[in-house]
Amino acid sequence: MEKTEPSIVYRYKNGLYVNLTNSCPTACVFCVKNAWKMDYRGSNLNLAGAEPSPADVIALAKEQWASGPFGELVFCGYGEPTMRLEAMLACARMIKNGRAEPLPRTLRIRLNTNGLANAVWGRNVVPEMKGLIDSVHVSLNSADPAQWLALMRPMAPWAATGFEKVKEFIREASLLLPETFVTAVESGEIDTEKFKALAAQLGAEPRLRPRLEAEEKR
Ligand code: SF4
Repeated sequence: MEKTEPSIVYRYKNGLYVNLTNSCPTACVFCVKNAWKMDYRGSNLNLAGAEPSPADVIALAKEQWASGPFGELVFCGYGEPTMRLEAMLACARMIKNGRAEPLPRTLRIRLNTNGLANAVWGRNVVPEMKGLIDSVHVSLNSADPAQWLALMRPMAPWAATGFEKVKEFIREASLLLPETFVTAVESGEIDTEKFKALAAQLGAEPRLRPRLEAEEKR
């Protein structure tokens, strides 16, 4: 079967999703990118090294808007969006500054992340997101450091300190950004009460979500 062109943006529910990179500092056990062969519900998310520029993303988002408005722009693809922090923030800045019309300045901008940005960049990057990112969903998945390690499988440089750095990221996001959720993939192995307690301690809202493979098979 002929491979479709890589999708930089794709629609899902009420949102336009942005596939900014395939680079990721974790290899989560529940990631479906391999099982689904880089396809996500009919979109080919394999960028094959050709990462889009902010101008590319905005041009495609405008095109999509013309074919029908969407409720939010979501940075979420097969890769960790904050690996391209500057590009992500540049896209958000263009929208919020009114330089991406007809996309409205008020368009809600969400980041789905594994929360390792502070660890990867070696600084607290959350203040840079203030006024640009409206909502952040951090895939934390466990309140237990050993379980986090087993589920998220971070690459070596972030294995030892990753869990604490993700917690720091969540705490900062809860303080500085309008909305912060911590998410967990539902499984019998997770202590959901402890997970919810940790979310509350970090100032975030907990959210449990179904495992994608359970939702549909490819
Ligand atoms: S953070 Fe996302 S892209 Fe990266 S391995 Fe986990 S699920 Fe896959």
